[in-house]
Amino acid sequence: MTVPIAKLSFWGVRGSTPTVDPATWRYGGNTPCLELIAPDGTKIILDCGTGLRMLGSRWAAPNGGKAHGTHILVTHYHWDHIQGIPFFSPLYVENNEFHFYSFRSKFLGRDSLKQVFEAQMALPYFPVDMSAMSARRKFKEVDGGDSFTVGENKITARWLNHPQGCLGFRIETPAGTVAYATDNEPGDAKMDESLRELAAGADIFINDAQFTPEQLETTRKGWGHSSWLEGVKVARHAGAKTLVLFHHDPDSTDRMVDSILRQAREEFDSVFAASEGMVITLGAPGDPVQAHMPGTRTALRREAQFHAKVCGVTEGGKDFEEETVVRDISLQGALISLKHLPRLQSELQVTMEAPGSDGVQSMNLRGYVVRIDEGPEKGHVAVGVVFTD
Ligand SMILES: [Zn+2]
Ligand SMILES: [Zn+2]
Repeated sequence: MTVPIAKLSFWGVRGSTPTVDPATWRYGGNTPCLELIAPDGTKIILDCGTGLRMLGSRWAAPNGGKAHGTHILVTHYHWDHIQGIPFFSPLYVENNEFHFYSFRSKFLGRDSLKQVFEAQMALPYFPVDMSAMSARRKFKEVDGGDSFTVGENKITARWLNHPQGCLGFRIETPAGTVAYATDNEPGDAKMDESLRELAAGADIFINDAQFTPEQLETTRKGWGHSSWLEGVKVARHAGAKTLVLFHHDPDSTDRMVDSILRQAREEFDSVFAASEGMVITLGAPGDPVQAHMPGTRTALRREAQFHAKVCGVTEGGKDFEEETVVRDISLQGALISLKHLPRLQSELQVTMEAPGSDGVQSMNLRGYVVRIDEGPEKGHVAVGVVFTD
């Protein structure tokens, strides 16, 4: 029997507004957009932030996959969740078909999302009008509490605490359950309960982590967002297996997100900070969730060879130190061949030597293990590391 596999890709992870500041490159500047491919081939897009444009370009590439019959869940109508729509090229291709799901906004009434499309593309805000969009679009209204199935997958929607409303989605696939809960603030008893219901026993729980716990209590109270600490509390309470910190503040630099991630990792066993290009695979039951960076941002990837010393902790809990050569390194992380088997989610220190202008320079990087595969050399494992500073 083959194990059913679901693949979750992150195309946009930034909250509120896109960022192009180089200090935010590593986690990425596009606003929310996720793609989930279920084991039965059902394609689900979560939110239509600016990350959606890149997903559209990917589909247009040879062997980039097909756009036909995709289901698109929109959590709410704030700019950062809809801004990618006019730039999603598959919408301009005849014979493509999309099923959109979102709620009826009390500010817009019937056909809310359809109206959002029209308003976004109204003149003079966009060069072409809706008639240029030749793909078939079907719109379905969803309310908090609704459940429906798409293929073999069950989707449940719940209201979250956010200005003008926001839906969280729980998607149960035969390979595992993903809870997507962006844009929510703790403090409303009923909706806090809804959030825990969405996250109950989920393999992956994606939660708003825009603010620090201090900001959430003071200057950012009432803005509709959450913190890593609240995410940890909900994950623990609801028995979620892996927590993904999401919707990074546009003012958070990579180093600030690193620090948020480090604090969360001290409190919860399996945590990722969502980063653009990250792919999480769900499959073998009971296995810890693993992530990788499949080179969607290849321009940033360097072909190089660095001698490195790697220190970490083995699966069995023993400290190790090992010399190796790092061949695959990007802005976000590296793939390192090791004889030792480090523990998933444990921290690694990587000291690399690189030729600089005045002789060999050493570079110290700290990261954590996000993936372990069989290595290309016998007796080695290929270890995926995401740098945290
Ligand atoms: Zn948002
Ligand atoms: Zn919002």
